[in-house]
Amino acid sequence: MNAFHYQNNELYCEDIPVSQLAKEHGTPLWIYSENKFLHEYRELAAAFADCDPVICYSVKANSNLSILKSLNEAGCSFDVVSGGELFRVGKAGADTTRVVFAGVGKTDSEIHDALAQNILMFNVESEAELDAISAVAEQMKVVAPVALRLNPDIDARTHHKTTTGKKGNKFGMDIERHNALAAKVLSDPHLQLRGIHMHLGSPILTTEPYEKAAQKAVDVIAELREKGHVIDWINLGGGFGLSYRNDEAPPYSEYAKVIIPYIKQAKCRLALEPGRSIIGNAGVLISEVIFTKREGGKLFIIQNGAMNDLVRPAMYDAFHKLWPVHTPLPVPHDPEAKSIPDCETCDVVGPICESCDYFAKDRALPVLKRGDLLCTFSAGAYGSVMSSNYNSRPRGAEILVSKNESRLVRRKETYEDLIALEIDFLT
Ligand SMILES: *Cc1c(COP(=O)(O)O)cnc(C)c1O
Repeated sequence: MNAFHYQNNELYCEDIPVSQLAKEHGTPLWIYSENKFLHEYRELAAAFADCDPVICYSVKANSNLSILKSLNEAGCSFDVVSGGELFRVGKAGADTTRVVFAGVGKTDSEIHDALAQNILMFNVESEAELDAISAVAEQMKVVAPVALRLNPDIDARTHHKTTTGKKGNKFGMDIERHNALAAKVLSDPHLQLRGIHMHLGSPILTTEPYEKAAQKAVDVIAELREKGHVIDWINLGGGFGLSYRNDEAPPYSEYAKVIIPYIKQAKCRLALEPGRSIIGNAGVLISEVIFTKREGGKLFIIQNGAMNDLVRPAMYDAFHKLWPVHTPLPVPHDPEAKSIPDCETCDVVGPICESCDYFAKDRALPVLKRGDLLCTFSAGAYGSVMSSNYNSRPRGAEILVSKNESRLVRRKETYEDLIALEIDFLT
């Protein structure tokens, strides 16, 4: 399903012209297609239906309440990594008994809140965390459900800043220690071992890292069961690929094909934590060209969307497809092509006073002028959630589109919002 498409030389989200939303709400503007992320959720659920998984959408990819509520109503559960995210899913109406909680630095108060809300399990990332969870559970007179997040030492070949399952990064515990860790849980009356968790990094464009991880998880579970542990869950995390360029991500069915046999072999329940693949291509960021200039032999397109809105290019050298909202030129098959007829090569930059404030470098784009709208595609995941007010720039609005209806789901910020938490202290 392609939620964003051109009709009469103009970009639409589902049945609504993007320019109409930009006119109404201003830019920069986040636009999300509800039917696209629901479609992705349902495709994933269908691909894995054979083993009846619990799909825990990774809230950190995009935590807008209306998106969470919509996914919740579709039957989706949630993966949270902070007390704030747990608070959000509660507000969105989620059943917290199906929520999983990851993260290397859970505080006692976060652990307390999660236990009070009866979550499905903590994905525990260190021995110290096991001790902390046990202590809080003891105080509350409850038994805490835990899964061991093991680091399987698999290179998922992602950007070095987004790999998580390779030895030497901060996530999880070394897989060789699973016996000692499980024994520790078994001997602790306040802890109950529910499963094994692995999350390899993101985005992963091949299926074989998942196959290796599933194999390792099944082996670990067989060994632990032999030692008398009752252990029912395998959680393979998220990281499913997203097509930022052109269909480079495999369909969910290919991941399912390699994973499901292991889950069936181990007679386990499966949890998955997709974020990017659900929401990434359901969102765009619309910016307006402020100026163009030629200096130092280069053409710069200066737009009002910047690294404070979308930090991925600055932070991870991430590639985002860009194309004007109005243009007779079709979106190129290869958005990285160096020369495209009727296009000129430019750097697309924002107004922020940092050299890394760019969305694209040496990109072939149709000729742009002051006032034109430019779309940044695949901005639904790790976009608005990572935005900031750097350079005292108010964030833009967020709009949720379903067919020919649009709803404001986060209003744009004002200058007053920027100072709201400080103004009372100005003496
Ligand atoms: C970030 C994260 C995810 C989601 O990753 P995506 O690439 O967005 O699918 C899932 N699980 C854990 C533990 C994470 O940290």
